[in-house]
Parts: sequence; C-alpha cells; structure tokens
Amino acid sequence: MKIGIIGLGLIGGSLGLDLTRQGYNVIGISRQLTTCNLAIKKRIVTDATVDFSILAETELIFICTPIEAILSTIKSIIQYLPRKTIITDVGSVKGAIVYKATELWGNFVGSHPMAGTINQGIEAAEFDLFKNAPCVITPVKNTSTDAIHKVTQIWRSLGCKMYESTPEIHDQAVAWISHLPVMISANLINSCLNNDNQEVIELAQNLASSGFKDTSRVGGGNVELGLMMAQYNRKQLLVTLKEYQENLSKIIENIEQKKWNKLTEILTKTQQERAKFL
Ligand code: NAP
Repeated sequence: MKIGIIGLGLIGGSLGLDLTRQGYNVIGISRQLTTCNLAIKKRIVTDATVDFSILAETELIFICTPIEAILSTIKSIIQYLPRKTIITDVGSVKGAIVYKATELWGNFVGSHPMAGTINQGIEAAEFDLFKNAPCVITPVKNTSTDAIHKVTQIWRSLGCKMYESTPEIHDQAVAWISHLPVMISANLINSCLNNDNQEVIELAQNLASSGFKDTSRVGGGNVELGLMMAQYNRKQLLVTLKEYQENLSKIIENIEQKKWNKLTEILTKTQQERAKFL
C-alpha cells in the first residue's frame, strides 16, 4: 500500500519510521528539500519531495502539519487525488478541522494519536512513539465506513489503543487531560519565575527534582502547539480553566481557613481517582 505523510516533524516522522519498517511504500512531503533528503536517509520514508503531485497514487494520506495548516493542505492536495484516497489528520483539535475537511474531501476521517515528546521537527522522530498510546478516531455522520476501518487498522498496527468519539466530545475530553495541563504546567513554571527573590529562585532551580519534572514537562514543550490548542480549542479550554480556577479557590480557602478535613477529603479523592486517568 502506498501511504503519504505530509509534514515530517515529530508525529509525521515517527509515523514514517514505523510504517516504513512495516514495509509500506511511504511517500513524504516536506516544505524543504533538505528535510526530504534527511527523511530518505533516515528511512523515515521510501521517497520524499516538496511536490504534492507525487501523492497521485496514494491510498491513504496522513496530514501531520501544525493544526493551522491542515485545512489549507487538504485544499492544496485534492486536485491530485483519485476519489478513493483516504485522508486523515493527526491534529490535537478535531471540531475545527473535521467538518470543514469532510466538506472538502468526502473520504476524510479525523484521528488523534495521544503520543508526543517535548521535541519537534524531523530530528525528534522516533520508532514506536505510538506503541500503547491511545488514539481517537472522530467520524461524523457521513464518514465512509471504509475510511474508518482502514485508518483504525493502521493505527492499531502501530500499537495504538483505539477509541471513537464525536469531534465535540473529543475536544472536551482533551481540553481536560491535554490542553488544560499544558496551561497549568506553563503557569507553574511562570509563577516560580515571578518570585522576586533571586536567591529563592536559584535554590528552587537546584532543588527541583522528580515532582517538578513531572508537573512542568508539558509546560516546557512545543510553543506553537500550546498556542494552537488555545486558539483552536478556545471555548472548551476556557471552560476547563474556569472550573480549575474555581476548584483552586476552594483549595486556597481551605488552607487559609485551616479546614484540614476538607483538604484531606480532596487529596484522598484525587489519590484514589488518579489511576483511572492513567
Ligand atoms: P512538529 O514536530 O513541529 O512537526 C510539524 C511539521 O509540519 C514540521 O516539521 C514541518 O514539516 C511541517 N510544517 C510546519 N509548519 C507548516 C506549515 N505552515 N505548513 C505546512 N507544513 C508545515 O509538530 P508535531 O508535534 O509533529 O505536530 C504535528 C501535528 O501533530 C499537529 O497538528 C499536532 O496538533 C499533532 N499532534 C502533536 C502531538 C505532540 O505531542 N507533539 C501529539 C498528537 C498530535 P516540514 O518541514 O517537513 O514541512
């Protein structure tokens, strides 16, 4: 099977490594020739070019560009494709993409692998990034069952645990477990830096260990991705941020008023419930 990957960064590159290893004929598209050459050299793809017309005979195309470029990329490639070609994307937001993409190309189905590292670009590509990772597929009313089936199968073959939801439910769920954590984690680092005693900051930086490493990781990652989560999932992210703010106010109140029983209740509940998210 001939598979196209557009955008050879962390996700597109990692996808290419796994698919090429599985024996697929993988065609990569980058905006830069140097990236194409590197992708061929690293066996991320079988062949790569900057020219969309090479996609003419592909059966399945993964769009792995930043969110803002997904729809314009679909507009640019469809003139080269036979109707049976299936297009999917890997964007972290689905509502803003899936309906418009389906209007542009009937054989489209959205997907979102929940895998990543703090790195970006082709150099960040790694084998087995998707192994044991959850992946959501987000069909809508008219999505072809063949597209759902093929895209599900291929993610599953990379080791993903597959889920299906509407774009709306997807965006609400990822606002809680992905987009809100990025903002909280970024705010944690930012708040630490705003301490006006330089001696405290320096000692904190020297003492920071596994707890800070875990809680700050997603706040220290890809800036454009964080910004696009906020821009393209703005409504749902604001819902979660406001609810988070309310809950934080309750925690502050409990500490100010020494309501230790209330604080214990919260910490006990979170201790018991955390495992359900992991
Ligand atoms: P990335 O490492 O920055 O890769 C994105 C690639 O897209 C770039 O390397 C570049 O490749 C290409 N690109 C950049 N700007 C472009 C533009 N304006 N038009 C066309 N192509 C452009 O980012 P990533 O982490 O792989 O993210 C890619 C997609 O995966 C995003 O839609 C993101 O929402 C989704 N995603 C990310 C994660 C994560 O944790 N990082 C997880 C799940 C899903 P070329 O130089 O080859 O053109």
